[in-house]
This record gives sequence, structure tokens and C-alpha cells, in this order.
Amino acid sequence: MAQDLELENQRLRNQLRNLLREARENERKQDRFHALELKLVAASGLAEIVTLISRALPRTSRLEHVGLLLTDISGEIGAELARAGIAEVPGQLELNPPVRLPGGVYAGPFDADRHGRYCGGRRDLASLAMLPLRRGSEGQSGPLGVLVFGSRDPARYGMGVDTYFLERLAAITAVCIENALNLSRLRDLGLTDALTGLRNRRYFDEQLPLECQRAMREQVPLSCLFVDIDRFKSINDVYGHPVGDQVIRDVAQRLSRHVRPFDLLARYGGEEFVILLGRLDGSATREVAERVRLAVADDPVRLEDGPELEVSISLGAAVCARWGENDKHTDAGRRLVEAADLALLEAKQSGRNRVVMAAPRSGLFGRLGG
Ligand code: GH3
Ligand code: MG
Ligand code: MG
Repeated sequence: MAQDLELENQRLRNQLRNLLREARENERKQDRFHALELKLVAASGLAEIVTLISRALPRTSRLEHVGLLLTDISGEIGAELARAGIAEVPGQLELNPPVRLPGGVYAGPFDADRHGRYCGGRRDLASLAMLPLRRGSEGQSGPLGVLVFGSRDPARYGMGVDTYFLERLAAITAVCIENALNLSRLRDLGLTDALTGLRNRRYFDEQLPLECQRAMREQVPLSCLFVDIDRFKSINDVYGHPVGDQVIRDVAQRLSRHVRPFDLLARYGGEEFVILLGRLDGSATREVAERVRLAVADDPVRLEDGPELEVSISLGAAVCARWGENDKHTDAGRRLVEAADLALLEAKQSGRNRVVMAAPRSGLFGRLGG
């Protein structure tokens, strides 16, 4: 009898010890998750959030697999990550993965055939948790993404294992990602021209010194095309402002078809546009400018209510082909745009619907070549 009681006592003491160990471990886990959550909330943008999830979380959770899969129909997440130099890694960080994102929480055994495609094709896991990143507003299609946690320990996720920390982390991650996206959309709106959808002058002015700095660092040419619609005032006068607006939009679309994804096209003001082209010498710049001119002159603008309008543009082009060691990128950008603007004036004065290249060695340019 006494022996039985002693055994029972021993058993209860062991149980208590285990429970205390578990409680201490949970407390440590909670601290680690809490610290990560604070970092997520304080993150300055999408790139930092994604980095925290894909780099810091595997350490925090001490797991064999952590994945962040996101839907990105509009491509805005991809663009933001590309700007930050963050690349996709199958299973770890994937945009628009070719699988249906789960709408509910899953925690249980890992089935390689069913779950492998959520983990970049891994087959070496034993248990898995998948937590949808739910959008804040109703009515949007499907979740924002999913957080995937995989372990080689079959007991890590499954019956009776609480996913509270993970669900909380997924909820915080979703809010932070949506917030970061909204902030960058708001910023984008301030840098986008409402009429044409192109970048606006503010964006161009912000980017110009950065583009110069990049071209200087890589010692590659940078070209600037200044574009102005010919006799636009008379289009407004004859057909009215709404038709003038249609013409501006149409020209903007034609220009955008002739720039490469890494070039920069912006509406500079009224009926003026500016294009920065990288890595082209003088003759290649002239060729592009000529193609752009023909893209407008060769095909009349078809107005929404039927009639066609002959429209032409004039272009001033300048190239900085070589960079001096002491060039300041802010000055160089300003000089490049001024030279293109001056060449545009010459194009206007010499008859319009033409391209004029800035003099390669004009006083403005000094070392800049054409
Ligand atoms: P040039 O060939 O010398 O460039 O002649 P132009 O008539 O195009 O030149 P000007 O700069 O005199 O005219 C530009 C006009 O563009 C004046 C302005 O009323 C009009 N404009 C500016 N912004 C807008 C706009 O957003 N919509 C419309 N419809 N017109 C605009
Ligand atoms: Mg003008
Ligand atoms: Mg004009």
C-alpha cells in the first residue's frame, strides 16, 4: 500500500516536473515569438517583413522548414521585392505559387504527395502546419497567402498540439503585409500621373540622380529624351480639353510601348514627357528617339467618338556616354535633362516632328559624348 502511494507520488512529481518544463519552454517560445512580432510591427516595408519571416522565423521557431507563399496578381509585391534585391526561393518565398492556397488552418501529419508542393517539393518532413494569411476586408478573393511550418518531428504538429502562437503570428503577419502594401500604394499614387498612369515629374526628379549614380558606378551611358506634342494648344482650341486629354493618354501609351522595363518614362508636365534610357550610345539613342517619333506620326490618333487626328511629337535627345571621376550625380542629371530640353527647343524651331540630338561637346556637356 505504502509502496503504491510512493509510486503514485513519484509519478505525479514527474508529471509536475514535465508540466513545469513545458510551461518554461512555452514561456521562452512566447518571448521569442513576441520579439519577432514586435519586429514585424516595426518593419519599415514589405521587404523587411518578408526577410523577417523567411530568415528570422526559422531561427525563432527552430524548424526544418518555414515558407511564405503569397498571392500577387497585380505584381506589386514582386516589383517591391525586386527593388530590394530579394529573390524568390521555391517553397520558402514564393509569389503566385501554382497551388490552391488553403483557406483554413491545417496542423497534422506531412503527406509528401499532398503537401510537398507547398514546401518547394520537399519530402523529408514528418508534420506540418499551414496558416492562411487572411485579408482584413471581406469580399476579396482568397487569402493573401499562407505561412507554412514543417518539422521532421511527427509530434510537432498534430492532434492536441496548440497552434495558438502560429495563428497569432499569421494574423499579425497578414496585417503587417496589407499595411505595407497600402502604404506603398499610397506612395505610388503620389508619384503617378492620374491622366496617363505614367510616373509623374516628382518621381522622375527623385529617380534622376539615382539613375545617374547607377550609370556612373557601372560606367555605362545614360540618355534622356525630352518629348513634346506639336501644336497641342490648337488641338485643345479646336476640339476642346477632353479631346486634348485623350491625345495625351494615347501618346503616353505609344511611348510606353517603346521603353524597356528598366527605362524610365514620366509625364513631365502638360503635353511633355521625359524618358531615361540606359546603356545606349549616341546612335542607338537616336534610333530609339526616331522610332518613338514614328510611333506617333505614322498612325493617327483615333478619338473615342470616331474622328482621327494627325498628331506629331518633337524630341530632344542627350546622351552622357562617359562619366568623369569628379562628376556629381545630381549635377550630371540636371545637365543631361537641360541638354535634352535645349535640343527639343531646336527641334521645335527647325520645323517640329523631328529628333534633334544635343551637341556632343556643347558647353553644357563638357565631357559628355553623343
Ligand atoms: P509646340 O509645338 O511649340 O509645342 O506648341 P504647343 O501648342 O504644343 O505648345 P504650348 O506649350 O503652347 O501648349 C501646351 C498646351 O497644353 C497648353 C495647355 O493648355 C495644354 N495642356 C497642359 N496640360 C494639359 C492637360 O492635362 N490636358 C489638356 N487637354 N491640355 C493640357
Ligand atoms: Mg510644351
Ligand atoms: Mg507642345
